[in-house]
Amino acid sequence: MDSELKKYLVKSGNKLKLAKFDPSETSCFKDGKKAALKKIAKMNSEIEELQEAMYAERKHGLLVVLQGMDTAGKDGTIRHVFDGVNPQGVKVASFKKPTPIELDHDFLWRVHPHVPGKGEICIFNRSHYEDVLVVRVHKLVSKEVCKKRCEHIVNFERMLSDSGVTIVKIFLCIDKDEQKKRLLSRKEDVAKQWKLSESDVPERAFWDSYIEAYEDAITRTSTENAPWFVIPSNHKWYRNYLVSRIIHETLLSLKIRTPKPSFDVSKLEIE
Ligand code: AMP
Ligand code: MG
Repeated sequence: MDSELKKYLVKSGNKLKLAKFDPSETSCFKDGKKAALKKIAKMNSEIEELQEAMYAERKHGLLVVLQGMDTAGKDGTIRHVFDGVNPQGVKVASFKKPTPIELDHDFLWRVHPHVPGKGEICIFNRSHYEDVLVVRVHKLVSKEVCKKRCEHIVNFERMLSDSGVTIVKIFLCIDKDEQKKRLLSRKEDVAKQWKLSESDVPERAFWDSYIEAYEDAITRTSTENAPWFVIPSNHKWYRNYLVSRIIHETLLSLKIRTPKPSFDVSKLEIE
């Protein structure tokens, strides 16, 4: 992992303090937005090639967990970073309020069927982490239960990692003022109004509890095999730049090799 990205990595055992975190900073990219967009486009085309090779090799799975407050940019990140990848081999799973059947099961029950198989990339738009975040904020379960769930998550992710799934977890961090701007722009843009939900404004009142829940959950679950990155996301271009870099580097680290054909291709006579 290169040193620039490392500063956004929550080291296993370190306590995350978001009060010290600046969601507006763009320190890894001094050349500004226009130059960043060029770099993103180049990385994305390499991500495309790596994904195709990964699909052919069928050795690794990649799970990308995306979390963030409402309007933090989960959908936009998926659109920009995975723009152009072959939909064959890439899936997105979005986790909403659990259904009654899901609630009748353990909290990981609905998650497990969506983990990537060999050769696949799966992006979680929200995830099993909602079960230690929103439920904690609204006191649907106690802090004690959340603590226990974090242990279950660490074990679950270790099991996935032992089974050939590489995991990266990304918290898109915006501040409360930026959220206000984004909610207002959704309200004013008829084409974007569908993204608003009635709960978005009341949820803002719980901002500090969410921050506390995120700090605790990320601190407890950032491990070597399933690390968390906290990404400054007030500037969308910078967020896309960093997330592209994380995915690009992670794919490179897998040392993917396109498999050789199982027969002598030179002997193939094509009429
Ligand atoms: P959105 O991502 O905007 O489509 O909204 C999905 C909503 O579902 C968010 O308000 C989440 O907090 C909520 N949600 C997702 N998972 C859970 C969960 N396990 N328990 C309660 N609410 C959840
Ligand atoms: Mg929403």
